[in-house]
Amino acid sequence: MRRLPLPPAQPLSANQLNFSGGPGVLPECVLAQAQQAIMALPDTGLSVLGMSHRSAWFEALLEEAEHNVRELLRVPAHFKVLFLQGGSSLQFSMIPMNLAPANRAPPAYVQSGYWSGRSVLEARCVRPIELAWDGSAQQYSRLPDWSELALAADLPYTHFVSNETVEGLQWPVSSAPAGQTSIVDMSSDLFARPIDVSAYAMIYAHAQKNLGPAGVTLCLLDERLLEEIPAGLPPMLDYRTHVLHRSNYNTPPVFGIYVLTLVTRWLRDTVGGVAAMQRLNHAKAARIYGLLDGFSAQLNSPVEPRHRSMMNACFSFRQPGLDQRFLAAAAAAGLTGLAGHRSRGGLRVSMYNALSIAAVETLADFLSDFVQTQA
Ligand SMILES: *Cc1c(COP(=O)(O)O)cnc(C)c1O
Repeated sequence: MRRLPLPPAQPLSANQLNFSGGPGVLPECVLAQAQQAIMALPDTGLSVLGMSHRSAWFEALLEEAEHNVRELLRVPAHFKVLFLQGGSSLQFSMIPMNLAPANRAPPAYVQSGYWSGRSVLEARCVRPIELAWDGSAQQYSRLPDWSELALAADLPYTHFVSNETVEGLQWPVSSAPAGQTSIVDMSSDLFARPIDVSAYAMIYAHAQKNLGPAGVTLCLLDERLLEEIPAGLPPMLDYRTHVLHRSNYNTPPVFGIYVLTLVTRWLRDTVGGVAAMQRLNHAKAARIYGLLDGFSAQLNSPVEPRHRSMMNACFSFRQPGLDQRFLAAAAAAGLTGLAGHRSRGGLRVSMYNALSIAAVETLADFLSDFVQTQA
């Protein structure tokens, strides 16, 4: 068995830059506050890891987390804000269990990449579904236009993924097919740009790409959806349980919700909100895609330019073997997490909200030097 080394007596700051597809980088000020809170929360004198979820402190934390989410995303009053567990993957089956009643037409799914493909596989374990679009024949190099989707009238919902984290595809503006009940997995781009929440019936995103540590999943749910939930679901898998108990039915991920709250404060007070975050994200993505285009003789980036993701840029060296050499050289220079998803290989630069422009500049300079000397 491999043993993990013990942490040093003195805390270290990270000395590697994290370009990983997930879990993503978090703001350093948030990490410092989380570190302090593990020893003792300033307002309770107890470690956050030992705080009771039945305490007034936790009630106030939940209230602030919900308030900040509502403020940052301008969530309309008829949406419920839930903090759940099980990751985004549990939503893949909870959604059809709750929102695709057996007496209605099957829901429609857009399969535009790895994660929407997983949502299709898991939904099919619960109910028959319709594939409204399948990009696999084009190796997921582009997204559909809404007009290309074969959507029947009166569907219980249409499901899609706003940012395909593995392939690096993102809808250029946040939108949903008109007149449909749209459910969207925004795990890798929620809070990265302004969205119109009311265009959707449900939005969900786990925390570990843009929002905090793994273990908490944020769901924004139009309360009108609650009326159609069939009776008899196990309580943990029924959205109404979590609405009724205000995300405090069984022991919630207190630490995850605490860090998520710190991230929302950072986003509001330091960054200046979601529109300001989008400007920074645009600048980071423009730097990386500019390089990929400039070195297109050496680098292959398969995604259609209009569907390129601000969050995840995927590419590979045209010359065989160079991807691996690049990864090794980058790791030696303190640049980590650049390997493509295990299902695809190649390279991927993930630029989540907390990744600084300086980190992107460091990587861009490194990549540029590497291409010029090696490729
Ligand atoms: C990473 C990712 C997931 C997987 O989420 P888990 O919390 O690990 O279940 C789902 N959807 C998208 C879009 C992702 O990027």
